[in-house]
Amino acid sequence: MSAGSGPVGILGGTFDPVHHGHLRTALELIEACGLDELRLVPAGLPPHRGRPRASAELRLEMLHRAVAGEPRLRVDERELRRPGPSYTVDTLGALRAELGLRPLCLVLGADAFLGLPAWHRWRELPGLAHLVVVQRPGTVLAPEGELAALMAGRRSADRSALARASAGVLRVQAVTQLDISASAIRALVAGGGDPRYLVPEPVRELIMESRCYQATDDPREVQRSAKQETGITG
Ligand code: ATP
Ligand code: MG
Repeated sequence: MSAGSGPVGILGGTFDPVHHGHLRTALELIEACGLDELRLVPAGLPPHRGRPRASAELRLEMLHRAVAGEPRLRVDERELRRPGPSYTVDTLGALRAELGLRPLCLVLGADAFLGLPAWHRWRELPGLAHLVVVQRPGTVLAPEGELAALMAGRRSADRSALARASAGVLRVQAVTQLDISASAIRALVAGGGDPRYLVPEPVRELIMESRCYQATDDPREVQRSAKQETGITG
C-alpha cells in the first residue's frame, strides 16, 4: 500500500498478454489525470469470456516483467487470489475499504465501457470509484440508454475533479491511440509470428519460452480461444 493521498487508478483486464497498448495508456493516464499510481489488476476468472489462454501464473509474471522499473505502475493480485468470478464491483469494494476516502479511478477502454451494462452490479461502480474512459481504436464511444445518461450526468472536463471527490466523476481521457490487442497478439503467435515491439521484450521472451500461445490441434482449445475474442471482464 502506498503512503500517498492522490488518486489511485485501477486497470482491470485479462492481460493475456499485457501489451504496449495497456502500458502506454496507463502511463499517459497517470500524467494526464494526476494519479499517484495505477494498478493493473489481472482477472482470475473473467465472467464474460472464455478462460484465458495463458495460466494465471504466466499472466502475472508477464505483468511483473512489464512494470519492472516503473514504480507508478503496480500489479494488484487480489482477483487471482479470490475464488470464483472476478467481479469488478467486489474489487472496488475491497479497495474502497482499504483506501478510505482516497480518490479511486476505474480506467476502462471504450470497448469495456460500452459493455458495462452487462457487468455484475454495474450501477454501483460510480459510487465506489470515478470512471475514466479512454478511446480505443476500432471503438466509437457512442453510449446509449442508461450509459449515455450516466455519462451526461457525471462527465467532467476538469481533471482536478478527480482529486476533489472520492468517486462518482466520469472523465473521457485522450491517450495515444495504439491499435494493439491481446487477441491479435495471440493470433499472431499461433500463426507462427513474432510479437516483437507489440509487447515489452521481457514479456515477449516469456511468451516464446513458454509457448503459451502456440497453435494447438486440440479442438477444445480452438473453440475456447474463439469464444474469448468478444469478451469483457466484468
Ligand atoms: P483481448 O483482445 O484478449 O480482449 P485486450 O487487448 O482487449 O485483450 P484486455 O485485457 O481485455 O486487453 O483489456 C484490459 C483493459 O485495457 C480494457 O479496459 C481495454 O479496453 C483496455 N485496453 C486494451 N488494449 C488497449 C489499447 N490498445 N488502448 C487502450 N485501451 C486498451
Ligand atoms: Mg479486451
